[in-house]
Amino acid sequence: MRSARFVIVVGGGIAGLAAGVALARAGIEVRVFERAHELGDTGGGITLWNNALGVLRNWGLEAHVCDAGCVLERGELRSAAGRTLVTTPLAEIARRTGSPAVALHRAQLATVLVSALPPGALALGREFVRFEVSDRGVRVFFADGSAERADVLIGADGLRSRVRAQLCGDAAPRYAGYTCWRGLATLPFASFPAHTAWEVWGRGARFGIVRLDGERVYWFLTANAPAGGRDDDAPARVRERVRGWCAPIAEVLACTEPASVRRDDLCDRPPLAVWTRGTVTLAGDAAHPMTPNLGQGACQGIEDAAVLAECLSAQGDAHAALARYEARRRPRTSRITVRSRRLGWIGQRERACECAVRDQLMALTPAAWMRRAYEANVSLPLG
Ligand code: FAD
Repeated sequence: MRSARFVIVVGGGIAGLAAGVALARAGIEVRVFERAHELGDTGGGITLWNNALGVLRNWGLEAHVCDAGCVLERGELRSAAGRTLVTTPLAEIARRTGSPAVALHRAQLATVLVSALPPGALALGREFVRFEVSDRGVRVFFADGSAERADVLIGADGLRSRVRAQLCGDAAPRYAGYTCWRGLATLPFASFPAHTAWEVWGRGARFGIVRLDGERVYWFLTANAPAGGRDDDAPARVRERVRGWCAPIAEVLACTEPASVRRDDLCDRPPLAVWTRGTVTLAGDAAHPMTPNLGQGACQGIEDAAVLAECLSAQGDAHAALARYEARRRPRTSRITVRSRRLGWIGQRERACECAVRDQLMALTPAAWMRRAYEANVSLPLG
C-alpha cells in the first residue's frame, strides 16, 4: 500500500496548474512539468462559469480572477437577424450558485494559478515522453533524457495527451465538423454593454462576443468546414462569413487586433470507460476533451483538480484514492461531453428551414427550463 507523498503532473495548462495548486494546498508535494519554455498567450479569452469560480473561491483565488477579468451578469442568445431568442440571467444564477461567471484572458488565468503554486513547483521546458510503473512508484521520462520518480502521475497534457496514449492506447481526436476562429477587439461600451456575453446563431455558423477586461471583448466564430482548412487572411474570411449579421458583429471585427486571430478545428473524444490504472490517472482535456459549446472544458479541469486533491489527501492507498477520483468525475464529465457535442450539432444546423424551427423552439422554451438546464452544468457538485 503506497500513499501519495509526491505527485508529478504532466502539462502546465489550466488543468495541470489547477491540479498543482489543489495538491499543494492539500499538503502534498507536487511538481508540474510543462514542455513549453514559457507559459504564453494561448488563445485569447475564456469564460469560467460558476462551478469553476466555486472551486477557485475555496482556494482563495476568486477575487484575483474577478479582478483580472469581467464578471458576467447577462447572457443572450440571438438570431443572425438580431432577434433575442433566450436571455440568461447570469447575475441571478450567481446569487443562486454562490459564485459568478467570469471572462478573462487565458494568460491572466495562468498567472493567477502560477502565483498560487509553491516556489519551484512548475518546471518549464520539460517534455514528457513515457512512464514506467514498478513497486517503487512511477518513473517519468523526459525528452531531455532526464527521469523523475513519484508516487502518482497525473497526465494533464491536453487533447493529444501522451500519458493518455500510453495509458489507454487512444486513436486521433474526433473532429466535430466545424472550425473556430477567435480574436480580441477593443469595443466601446456604447456598442456592446459591460458584463455581457452574446451568442448569435446563423446558418452553419455561430458568433460569440464576451466582455473581457476594460473595453476589450473576445469573440469567436464557429463554422461548418472540412477539417484541416487554413486561411491566407483569416480576418477577411471571418468578415465574409458573417456579412449581413446583426450589429455589433461587423464593428467587433473592424476593431479586432489582427495578430490576435487564430483558428482551430474543434474536436472531442467519446467518453472513456476507464482513465486510471493503478497510480497513473488523467485530468482535464487529457481525460475528457469536449467541444467548447458549453464553455466547460477548463471548468471541468478545475473541478478535476479539486476532487483529485480531496481524494489523494485522505489517508490511505493512492490506488484507491485515484479510483475514487475517477468514480466521482467520470459520470459528470461524460454527461457534459455528450451535451456539449449535442448543443454543437443543434447550433451548427445549416438548412434554412431547420434553423427557422430551431430558433423558434429556442425562443418558445420556458425560461425556467432553460435556467435549470444551464444550472445543471454550472452548479458545483463537490463535497
Ligand atoms: P491544455 O490547455 O491543452 O494544456 C495541456 C498542456 O500540456 C499544454 O500547456 C501543453 O504544452 C502541455 N503538454 C502537452 N504535451 C506535453 C508533454 N508531452 N510534456 C509536457 N507538457 C505537455 N473552456 C472553458 O471552461 N470555458 C470556455 O469559455 C472555453 N472556451 C473554449 C473556446 C475554444 C475555441 C476552445 C478550443 C476551447 C475552449 N474551452 C473552454 C476549453 C478549454 O480551452 C480546455 O478545456 C482547456 O484549456 C484544457 O486545459 P488542459 O490543461 O486540460 O489542456
